[in-house]
Amino acid sequence: MNEIYLDHATTTAPLPEVLEAMRPYLSSQFGHASALHARGAQARLALDEARALVAALLRAEPDEVVFTGSATEANNLAIKGVAWSAGRRGGHLIAAATEHISILHPLRTLEKQGFEVTLLPVDRHGFVDPDDLRGAIRRDTALVSVSHASAEIGTAQPLADLCRVARGAGALFHTDATLTAGALALPHGDDQPDLVTLTPHLFYGPQGIGALRVRRGVRLAPLIEGGPQEDGRRAGTEALAAAVGFGAAARLAAATMGARGERAAARAGTLQHALLKALDGVIATGHPTRRVPGLLTLCVQGIEAESLLTALGAEGIAAASGSACTTAVRKPSHVLQAIGVDPVLARGAVTFAFGETNVDDDAAAVARILPPVVGRLRLLSPLA
Ligand code: PLP
Repeated sequence: MNEIYLDHATTTAPLPEVLEAMRPYLSSQFGHASALHARGAQARLALDEARALVAALLRAEPDEVVFTGSATEANNLAIKGVAWSAGRRGGHLIAAATEHISILHPLRTLEKQGFEVTLLPVDRHGFVDPDDLRGAIRRDTALVSVSHASAEIGTAQPLADLCRVARGAGALFHTDATLTAGALALPHGDDQPDLVTLTPHLFYGPQGIGALRVRRGVRLAPLIEGGPQEDGRRAGTEALAAAVGFGAAARLAAATMGARGERAAARAGTLQHALLKALDGVIATGHPTRRVPGLLTLCVQGIEAESLLTALGAEGIAAASGSACTTAVRKPSHVLQAIGVDPVLARGAVTFAFGETNVDDDAAAVARILPPVVGRLRLLSPLA
């Protein structure tokens, strides 16, 4: 059975060009970027090139890119790093109620340490209102963090407007662009966020690495202390091969972003249209157009998402429910709750994330397979 992979918002397959770029650094060109011999110089050069490619994708400067082990670590570094850099307890932080748990959990930790946290509400599409942000900012607000998009609803936030409000009030602005890096452009010039999180495993690069863009002049306390790597902002030997793969994936994404997005969005649109026609009780969540291209987020009435994903898996279709990090938690989704979805309906939340692994026929195949599967599950489900 051929797999139809529709889980590109969880992780993606590294492209052949990415693997090709990485391979030498896992074998003959191994090296430590701090070493003083020729092999070290070669590793340093490769790391510098990778950093410049990631910076170019973000329209940032190379020395503003801090490599981390994951997007989760980059989010922790942004939140705790800014809060702790003031070198005192207390202060105020703001985030959207729909943030990923790698933002919300560090905020909870900071609250226990004496910081105050405000979570902003969102509207039914998941948008943060810049006026709500304006009203929440205080003189002691150190940081505002609003992700570019959530995997659970796909709505792309008005980052430029939010950034302008935060910076106008003297606060730093962070965005978690894990889901959108390489898929949607970030704001230009003065409206650029001060801090940006990304990881290449969501745009056809390797797992095990992430990055935080830290605008020049922003002070950040390191989470991981030790050697002088990453300009003292993240100690530990850099993952050379992964960084090179990150750079290659960033270069390819910058060159093909528009075309990738169009292909994915067209296929997701075909599936959405077919499913809404074939099935009653299916609700599309998030904004219909201002969203991550190719990410279809639905709530299917009368079923449990886990049962549907298992049944689809048996048919060779790999899809997801919400954020990969929260599927194991089995709590009602805080994101769907925030946009006002009924908790019972939210139990049927599924996401189909199209990407470069797909072909045109995939949407039609899923549209054919899914309705009878849902019909069967509804006959058995206590939710129906
Ligand atoms: N931020 C967002 C919006 C995500 O969807 C995810 C993963 O699902 C993360 C951060 C964490 O990414 P990672 O697990 O690669 O660190």
